Amino acid sequence: MTASESTDQYFREAAGIMGLSGNMQKLLLTPEREVKVQVAMEMDNGELATYIGYRVQHNRSRGPMKGGLRYHPEVDADEVLSLATLMTWKTAVVDIPYGGAKGGIQIDARSLSPGELERLTRRFVDEIHDVIGPDKDIPAPDMGTNAQVMAWIMNQYEKYHGFNPACVTGKPVELHGAAGREEATGRGVGLLTIALLEKEEKNIEGARIALQGFGNVGKFAAQYLHERGAKLVAISDAYGGIYNPQGINVPLLTDYVATHKKVLNFPESEAISNEELLTADCDVLIPAAIGGVIVDSIVPHIRAKYIVEAANNPTVPSADRALAKRGIILLPDILANAGGVTVSYFEWVQNRQHFRWDLERVRHELDRKMIDAFETTWSLATEKKVPLRLAAYLVGIGRVGRATALGGY
Ligand code: NAD
Repeated sequence: MTASESTDQYFREAAGIMGLSGNMQKLLLTPEREVKVQVAMEMDNGELATYIGYRVQHNRSRGPMKGGLRYHPEVDADEVLSLATLMTWKTAVVDIPYGGAKGGIQIDARSLSPGELERLTRRFVDEIHDVIGPDKDIPAPDMGTNAQVMAWIMNQYEKYHGFNPACVTGKPVELHGAAGREEATGRGVGLLTIALLEKEEKNIEGARIALQGFGNVGKFAAQYLHERGAKLVAISDAYGGIYNPQGINVPLLTDYVATHKKVLNFPESEAISNEELLTADCDVLIPAAIGGVIVDSIVPHIRAKYIVEAANNPTVPSADRALAKRGIILLPDILANAGGVTVSYFEWVQNRQHFRWDLERVRHELDRKMIDAFETTWSLATEKKVPLRLAAYLVGIGRVGRATALGGY
């Protein structure tokens, strides 16, 4: 099953319960625009390299489209479509006035020099600047991209359209970025992990957590949970993982990764594989890396009672059903990792008003939005006796569907 078939399957299940007509389902699933462009550039050694860049704009019934830009070897047209669709439901679940989009280039960003990364990004903007913009579609960071890449996007976009910092979010704080954007997705994941445990009358202090991915999202989620007393017993990245049943010292690991670029060989830990991480003895499993890692064959071996999807699309639908049968409670991506797009929205608001918020205000507004969305989803799941993923889709599709019907076609 492809990535977009997976996300569409979740949609169809919710749409069936809501009684949406076949025509309405088709309208809500069909992307508004799919762009595929050539990105050609000169490498440092003087050779010519050509890549394919994608931008999929899924739905704009609730506002301009919004979604990250991913540089990763597994990017393809279908994955970008699936992630764009997820963004439509995600922005609706946290109730911010956006639709959904996503972009990507199939490349291992680690293989490029800073100069090559900059040229790649600028050439991509040359190809898509006409279809993005503050009232059309606003890119943001995702896997393999960061604040520096967003700064280049802004600079290149402005060469065509003039001063316009709201054309992209996740920018450096020194260049129209928002305080708290970098930590936002991880903070939201940490906050909702605690909210979920509280609903289950469990305490975060001493809760054992296994975390896959120690990039932007994973690192900040780990820090947030560590500071509140959780025990991070297993952490991994693309090179493998580490395990320490006494709890990994997250601040020291953060410093270690800043130097060594990977978690492997961190002192006082045992090396484990990424598969062993997913089945580690823990209370909460947090996938915060790539999609499609929780598959049927792994489900019987998962020992966590709770899964919090920090990554997009980490669970395939058949595994999702098997997890529910096992009584494992899962907080879905379209809710759990919505902190990033929420603070991206705050950044866009600040850019448009030319008025800066301080970190305290950003955190306060983020926490309020995330908890509101969590409570709405939890109440609906309880009322309808459905899993949290289905409840989140019911909330998201309901809002997008109502906006579509009210606006007309
Ligand atoms: P990142 O590039 O900063 O970090 C990715 C991490 O995953 C790294 O530690 C990397 O080593 C690891 N990784 C990559 N391939 C792996 C593999 N095959 N097995 C195990 N680990 C692997 O990316 P990020 O921004 O932290 O994004 C992580 C996930 O969170 C993605 O699914 C992304 O779509 C999702 N997400 C990110 C944001 C955001 O604000 N950055 C917002 C919402 C969702």
